[in-house]
Amino acid sequence: MSTVVTRFAPSPTGYLHLGHAYSAMLAADVARAAKGLFLLRIEDIDQGRCRPEFVEAIFEDLAWLGLKWETPVRVQSAHFDDYAKHLARLDEMGVLYPCFCTRKDIMAEIEHAGAAPHGPDGVLYPGTCRALSSDERESRIQEGQAHALRLDMTRAAASAGPLEWVDLGAGRQTAAPERFGDVVLARKDTPTSYHLAVTVDDHLQDISLVVRGVDLFEATHIHRLLQALLGLNTPEYHHHALLTDKAGRRFAKRDRALTIRALREASHTPDAVRAMTGLGR
Ligand code: GLU
Repeated sequence: MSTVVTRFAPSPTGYLHLGHAYSAMLAADVARAAKGLFLLRIEDIDQGRCRPEFVEAIFEDLAWLGLKWETPVRVQSAHFDDYAKHLARLDEMGVLYPCFCTRKDIMAEIEHAGAAPHGPDGVLYPGTCRALSSDERESRIQEGQAHALRLDMTRAAASAGPLEWVDLGAGRQTAAPERFGDVVLARKDTPTSYHLAVTVDDHLQDISLVVRGVDLFEATHIHRLLQALLGLNTPEYHHHALLTDKAGRRFAKRDRALTIRALREASHTPDAVRAMTGLGR
């Protein structure tokens, strides 16, 4: 039997809250029950929003909760070269293109087209830059115009063929990444994106089971496609329900009273916090 490897992969853009505690403890519990490994990964590619003090707070809060993780901890901002390598492979396959559009350009194009098809993440990119000639791409890049890199979804999905992935709760899924349109794989301001970095890292870290909130369920369709294109491992997934407050709203980093540190300062014990998440002892 191969080793079960799970991970908790927070973004240091605020203090961890009760919902994060649940996700981290669940991933750690699953690993422990299987005598496997629990990893922590810092997802800090968005250097404009991430802060070192939140990274420190993640270590401190998780340790206070009694969690132990393998070292070294992978910090995404130290691995931009890994993402660049994978982007280069996609580029060689002809499934990437530079996109020079601003948000304003995209909205104007949608208005002009008179239709705004939506995907799971909102309105779909209308494909403006997909149609640029290679000469035009080249000259705009030479001029230094800022650009993102988008996946040519139709081409990419056709080259990968039919794909499946498994969620332990929801069962076998037929991958349907097309619904997202041409997703961004490298942003104008960051040489990668969440989708690319998470897929590459789960492979490089040999994650066998991705435990994360159901808010990322749909994104897994894109991750499965990237795995197929890049020849990366496909872990199993467990997308857990999100903890909500009494009004049914999901917790967010802005809910200060429910950050792990606020709970700790209010003299709750780690066991009490665990009980609040509904996890057994
Ligand atoms: N970094 C993501 C977040 O904090 C989670 C990524 C994942 O678990 O795949 O929302």
